[in-house]
Amino acid sequence: DLQGSFELHNGVQMPYLGLGVYLSKDGEEVINAVKEALNQGYRHIDTAAIYENEEGVGEGIRQSNVPREDVFLVSKVWNTDQGYEATLKAFEASLNRLGTDYLDLYLIHWPKGDLSKDTWRALERLYREKRVRAIGVSNFLKHHLEDLLDTAEIVPMVNQMEFHPYLVQQELMDFCSSHQIQYEAWSPLMQGNIFDLDIMKDMAAKYNKTIAQIVLRWDLQKGVVTIPKSSKKERIKANSELFDFTLSDEDVKLLDSLDKGKRFGPDPDNFDF
Ligand code: NAD
Repeated sequence: DLQGSFELHNGVQMPYLGLGVYLSKDGEEVINAVKEALNQGYRHIDTAAIYENEEGVGEGIRQSNVPREDVFLVSKVWNTDQGYEATLKAFEASLNRLGTDYLDLYLIHWPKGDLSKDTWRALERLYREKRVRAIGVSNFLKHHLEDLLDTAEIVPMVNQMEFHPYLVQQELMDFCSSHQIQYEAWSPLMQGNIFDLDIMKDMAAKYNKTIAQIVLRWDLQKGVVTIPKSSKKERIKANSELFDFTLSDEDVKLLDSLDKGKRFGPDPDNFDF
């Protein structure tokens, strides 16, 4: 069901489906999106300091009918705040903007060479001090993870990556699963490009579902947490209607076979900080 979840390696439950709020404007737009999603049954919101909408996200949670403790709230430390002390400060600033005293998950937004090891030590401290229920990374390729694991005392619980039928990164997924790192999809709708694919149109017709529902269902059947973004009430609702059908194994494999290593977002190895 909509409140179903995957268990992280520390036992914390992470809801399968969250609302992404990248490019949802702070103020009314993001407040309404978050409030709407929570009132419709979402229990997971994905924001980041760099999205500059944490205040609205916090306000949306407060204006909803759902208590804070029932929401899985995620934020991320931005590149310019990496390093031990800077990350501790950035975390407090995010909490202040969100108007909460803990996060459910805090992520390193992008890898940043050796500095990320210091950032990670800060996240480990926040975790041990119970300021955050789980810690993880985003945009970490296998070599970034291997590097981090050399010195990490706590294995990241999550890796949030660009993921959709054109970018599967199976080797990275296998590496994550061998370390019990939960895989999570960003841009699961290919930033809107998924709607142009004929194969998606055909599959949507076959199951009598929308293209978004087909690809989001594929995420869940692959064991991947997914966070589609919308600020429109109807789309937020439709994107959560994933629990009344199942894709056949053949159709899951058909979507897997579209993989061509194509990114719509930045490449973690060539990201301009
Ligand atoms: P997405 O793949 O979720 O696509 C969003 C686009 O699809 C929007 O333009 C939206 O209007 C449209 N859309 C949504 N539902 C629709 C529907 N039912 N029908 C038609 N159009 C629909 O793209 P995204 O926002 O890039 O990714 C989702 C979330 O992932 C973000 O909001 C953010 O929280 C997170 N993210 C994280 C990173 C990272 O570096 N960690 C990077 C990008 C995004």
